Amino acid sequence: MIPAQFDYVAPASIEEALSALAEGGDDAKIMAGGQSLLPVLRMRLNAPELVIDLGRIDSLRGVRDDGDAIVIGAMTPHSEVQTNSLVHEHTLLISRAVAEVADPQVRHRGTFGGALAHADPAGDLGAPALALDAQFVVAGQGGTRTIDADDFFVDLFTTALEDNEILTEVRIPKRTGWGAHYEKFVRVAHQWPIVAVAAAVRVEGNTIAEARVGLTNMGSTPLRARSVEEALVGQPATDDAVRAAAASAAEGTNPPTDLNGDADYRRHLVTVLTRRAVLAAAER
Ligand SMILES: Cc1cc2nc3c(=O)[nH]c(=O)nc-3n(C[C@H](O)[C@H](O)[C@H](O)COP(=O)(O)OP(=O)(O)OC[C@H]3O[C@@H](n4cnc5c(N)ncnc54)[C@H](O)[C@@H]3O)c2cc1C
Repeated sequence: MIPAQFDYVAPASIEEALSALAEGGDDAKIMAGGQSLLPVLRMRLNAPELVIDLGRIDSLRGVRDDGDAIVIGAMTPHSEVQTNSLVHEHTLLISRAVAEVADPQVRHRGTFGGALAHADPAGDLGAPALALDAQFVVAGQGGTRTIDADDFFVDLFTTALEDNEILTEVRIPKRTGWGAHYEKFVRVAHQWPIVAVAAAVRVEGNTIAEARVGLTNMGSTPLRARSVEEALVGQPATDDAVRAAAASAAEGTNPPTDLNGDADYRRHLVTVLTRRAVLAAAER
C-alpha cells in the first residue's frame, strides 16, 4: 500500500529536530533508517502528518571511545557497528548480535538507535544492550537525560522515550577481553528470531568469573537471565556445568505463542540456546 500523505523535513541539527518534533506534537514521527517505520506507514498502521528524517544530522552518527564506555551514535547504521574495531574489541557481544540483524541491505539502512527505539521484542539488539548495562542518552527540549537499560524497555514496542524526545547515543560499558556470542534460532536465514540468547562471559583459567545473559523474544521486552548468570559464576566452562546453569533460563519469562512455536516450546528452546551461547562465548 501507499502511505497516507505526510509532510517531510530533514533538519541538520538535533535542536532543529527537537523544534520540529515540538511543533508537530502527536502528529509528528521521527525517521531513522526507515526500515521499520516505512512498512508501518505503508500498512497504514500509523499515519503521521509530519515525518522528521534524522539522516542529515552528522553528530548522531559514528562510534567513539569514551574511557570506560564505547559510545554508538543513534544514527549509526548496523553495517558500520558490525565492522567497527572499537565495538569489536570492547563490546564484542554487540558485534556478534548486530551481524545477525536481518540481511546486508537492511543492515546498510537500519540504524542502531532506530532498532532500539523501535523496541520490537524480537529485535536482536535489545537483549545484548540489556545484558551489557547500556545507557541511553536522550535529548529533549529541557536538555539531555540518561536512561539505564533496565528502565528503557517498558513494553511491546514501548520505551521510556517521551514523544518529544530523541535518542542521541547509546553508551556501552567496556568489557574488554570478555568472550561473547549471540545464538539466534530461526527457521530460515535472515528472519527475526523465534528465540535468541546473548551471552558474555569473563573466564579465568577454565572458570567463569563473570557472566551476562540476555534473552530475545521471551516476553514483551528483552530480559536478563539473572538466575543463569548467578549459577554460572564459579563454574568450569564445561558442557555439564553450563547445561545445569542454563536449565533455569526460562525462569520469570513470559514468551509468546505464535505460528513459529508455542510458549512451552520457547521455554525449552531458551535453555538449549543459553547453553550453546554460553559455551561459545567461553571459547572466545
Ligand atoms: C526485511 C527486514 C528484516 C528485518 N530483520 C530484522 C532482524 O532479523 N532483527 C532485527 O533486530 N531487526 C530486523 N529488522 C529491523 C531493522 O533492524 C531496523 O533497522 C530497525 O528495526 C529500525 O531501525 P531504523 O533505523 O530503520 O528505524 P526506523 O524504522 O526509521 O524507526 C523505527 C522507530 O523508532 C523511532 N526512532 C528511530 N530513531 C529514533 C531516535 N533516534 N529517537 C527516537 N525515536 C527513534 C521511529 O520514530 C520509529 O517509531 C528488519 C527489517 C526489515 C525491513
